[in-house]
Amino acid sequence: MKMIDQARGLAFSLAKDFHFAAAHRLLHLPEEHKCSHLHGHNYIVRICFSGDLDERGFVIDYGDLEPLKSIIDRKLDHRVLIAESDLELIGFCTSLNTNMAVLPIENTSAEYLAKYLYDKFHKIGFEVSQIIISETPKTWAIYPIHSSK
Ligand SMILES: [Zn+2]
Repeated sequence: MKMIDQARGLAFSLAKDFHFAAAHRLLHLPEEHKCSHLHGHNYIVRICFSGDLDERGFVIDYGDLEPLKSIIDRKLDHRVLIAESDLELIGFCTSLNTNMAVLPIENTSAEYLAKYLYDKFHKIGFEVSQIIISETPKTWAIYPIHSSK
């Protein structure tokens, strides 16, 4: 079963969805842009793995993904997501004594969140192939994809 289509450069892929709720605002936008104001989303994080099958016929065991769910639950769920440069929002949330996730990213866009989680999961040894984040039922940000540039 293993390396079933390696000669053709094909592999398997699987994904599992996780959920969290959070508030955020986006920096570098004009005040009239609705995303520049604090608002919330019910996020979906789709974590994808690609590769050959193991002796069980798995790319990865879904049961082994608990550490990734734990990171999402502990670090992001029911928090205000804040880019580390947004000192104004950090100060505001501190004054409210509300739960924050101050993240080492330039902006809390779905794109940066996808890259943040991709890097974080790789750092703890999970060879994630792609992170796909949805803020609304109609929008998805994907990281990484292979760019032709
Ligand atoms: Zn938003």
